[in-house]
Amino acid sequence: MNEPITTVKCVVWDLDNTLWKGTLLEGDDVVIDDHVHETILKLDSRGILQAVASKNDHDPAWERLEALGVAEYFVVAKIGWGPKSASVREIADELKFAHGTIAFVDDQPAERAEVEFHLPEVRSYPAESIPGLLSLPEFNPATVTVDSRRRRQMYQANVRRQAEQESFDGPSEEFLRSLELVMEIGRATAGDLSRMEELTLRTSQMNATGVHYSDADLRALLDDPRHEVLAVTMSDRFGSHGAVGVALLETGPEVWHLKLLATSCRVVSFGAGATVLNWLVDEAASAGAHLVADFRPTARNRIMEVAYRFAGFTDEHCACVAGLPSPDSGETRRLHLTPAPRPAPGTLRLSAVRLSTT
Ligand SMILES: [Zn+2]
Repeated sequence: MNEPITTVKCVVWDLDNTLWKGTLLEGDDVVIDDHVHETILKLDSRGILQAVASKNDHDPAWERLEALGVAEYFVVAKIGWGPKSASVREIADELKFAHGTIAFVDDQPAERAEVEFHLPEVRSYPAESIPGLLSLPEFNPATVTVDSRRRRQMYQANVRRQAEQESFDGPSEEFLRSLELVMEIGRATAGDLSRMEELTLRTSQMNATGVHYSDADLRALLDDPRHEVLAVTMSDRFGSHGAVGVALLETGPEVWHLKLLATSCRVVSFGAGATVLNWLVDEAASAGAHLVADFRPTARNRIMEVAYRFAGFTDEHCACVAGLPSPDSGETRRLHLTPAPRPAPGTLRLSAVRLSTT
């Protein structure tokens, strides 16, 4: 059996005679071929990030990328006189991507060899391969969601956000308020589900059950009147964070059973998990139902247990728990909470569906 192919998450481009025709320092009026331009746009629309590693003087090279109208597509640019392998390594570090997810395109065999020698997991491609690049399997992600198409803008917004955070002296709550965070919680639609599935796969740290719900599992529950599949999205004044959370809740008159709660690690510092739990407690209080949450400890989801405890869930015994079907796994614990109304969040604006009145 063949190993599944690892999808490329970032393409690192050389400039002279690779991205553009000609050598900038030799005074050429460099141009970008149509097929290269199209490759840049298509990679971007597939959610594959792009960066530059070039031996050039930084400012004139970057100014030329801007003049050619493509600078915005590159999230990192290492333009200077160090070895290419060092540039590619720095790009992978900044993006927090494994070397096996990086592709390097360069017309010079010696440059590709130098990168391959120091970074054997990075896949390198000669400039002649650019016309066929888009049809290679490693450049074709299995799913392209709304969020993956926006991946570059989300990354760039995050860079601006971090720069602002680093230059901000006030307390962190004040900083959070300055972001003008907005969270929306709504009933998931069929169209949301592929983003939701991607999220439950990518958020092992924040997945309280450690159980993976597939697209098909969640889709089957969309029309079930007893189940609520909830989608959480966030934005701030820098832009959208995309889908950041998913919750699966079975409601009943006596007890609401939270079967899945996963939130993206990208928004942990914004208190996203705590905000969702607080809202849920408030909704359950309005409905007069107790809350029970499944929790299966894994090596990586301790932070989620902290969020549950902080929200007020305990191991206390309650008759409502006995009425629930047994958990699928012996390792699943059931945390309990008797809800009381909760105040609205102080650091973000929440816009949420009402569960208790339907
Ligand atoms: Zn109870």
